Amino acid sequence: MSATAADERVVIVGAGQAGQQVAASLRQEGFKGTIALIGDEPGLPYQRPPLSKGYMKDGLRERLQLAPAAFYERNAITLLPETRIVAIDRAARQVVAADGSRHGYDHLVLATGARNFRPPILGADHGEVVELRDLRHADAIRERLGRTRHAIVIGGGFIGLEFAAVAREAGVEVTVVEALDRLMARVASPAISARFLEAHRGWGTRVMFEALATGIEIGPDGRAGVALATGGRIEGDMVLLATGIVPNAELAAEAGLGIENGIAVDARLVTDAPAISAIGDCASFPGPKGGRVRLESVQAAVDHARHVARRIAKGDMGAYEAVPWFWSDQGDLKLQIAGLTSLADARVSLPQDGPAETVLGFSEGVLVAVETVNGPGTHMAARRLLARGGVTEAELREAGWDLRALAKAAAAS
Ligand SMILES: Cc1cc2nc3c(=O)[nH]c(=O)nc-3n(C[C@H](O)[C@H](O)[C@H](O)COP(=O)(O)OP(=O)(O)OC[C@H]3O[C@@H](n4cnc5c(N)ncnc54)[C@H](O)[C@@H]3O)c2cc1C
Repeated sequence: MSATAADERVVIVGAGQAGQQVAASLRQEGFKGTIALIGDEPGLPYQRPPLSKGYMKDGLRERLQLAPAAFYERNAITLLPETRIVAIDRAARQVVAADGSRHGYDHLVLATGARNFRPPILGADHGEVVELRDLRHADAIRERLGRTRHAIVIGGGFIGLEFAAVAREAGVEVTVVEALDRLMARVASPAISARFLEAHRGWGTRVMFEALATGIEIGPDGRAGVALATGGRIEGDMVLLATGIVPNAELAAEAGLGIENGIAVDARLVTDAPAISAIGDCASFPGPKGGRVRLESVQAAVDHARHVARRIAKGDMGAYEAVPWFWSDQGDLKLQIAGLTSLADARVSLPQDGPAETVLGFSEGVLVAVETVNGPGTHMAARRLLARGGVTEAELREAGWDLRALAKAAAAS
């Protein structure tokens, strides 16, 4: 079959950041076949990052859309919203929707994303406990925020902290309840955690560590109480559960595909079945130092999508090896991370340059991650250096820890 045959069919399950991008990139790469972009949410595909940032403040929906309606028409992308895929019939090469309709594919791309993790906290499933993953959640929170005096956030990760900063700006009292001993512990270095703790406390947020929530009670008047393992109790009138996400991998698992912290794919982002790829938040791919990596970021969603589109449209069989990067906006602080902080066995914190801060992560003396606060230029330089690879601590020290100069010199050589 020719890579650009007009009768070739791509079906994409999940119309989020990754799904939308693979459809767009397929056309950019000259794919001539049919594209069905199937998602269970209503409306046009949208981006999630503003949900806990700008959108939480302004509620402007149009800014969320990844592309206007005309884009899908112009590019002959069949968008099927509010359509949940419930099964993959691998033998027939079809996906089955909840209404029984079937959609045949030559290439299937699973971009099913993730959903919020629900920790075993008594009362966490109460309808009044809010969460933040999609537009409906964001609208529900926005609607309540105006009449909330004290919001309790369970989880001191990115989403909980971004919400906390916005809520404080709106004059809401905020308590963050974190089970571990520092903020954003899963991804950020201790120095960055400390910087953000100082900032949030400065904005008036109460942060509690080693505070394990064990129960949530919501009274008929909407008053909320969160019980802690220590025996303490916090009273408020809104509870946001922000305790991480789990990949939507059940569809793939039921179809017999390998699962390993998400849908397992190889270096080309292909699952156990050669006709099925998986991308974005739902996919775990081979890591640079062995093991598997599953990223929860716009970068991974977009770069995975472009990679798969090139393979389907052009037959490009190369391995996926884009440098991971991520950002989080909290108040006036922009955290940017390039590379994988989890690989670091040593760290160097550079002297703070005004409000900007940089933490370098090394593995066996080689640069593997760079965290910056309010340092976009350094972040971009870090991405270039990480893409080059093999940058050593000694090399950086010799360059006076000036990542931008080093990246410039590397580009010129
Ligand atoms: C509030 C918030 C703030 C964020 N901020 C940042 C940030 O600052 N920086 C950053 O890099 N990342 C951020 N992220 C993460 C980023 O948005 C995700 O990594 C990205 O959306 C992943 O894209 P995806 O397409 O893999 O998954 P998703 O965007 O989750 O899309 C998956 C879609 O598939 C649908 N779906 C699932 N199963 C089925 C099925 N069986 N049938 C049909 N449809 C299905 C889902 O409903 C969903 O619409 C944020 C996320 C949230 C929620």
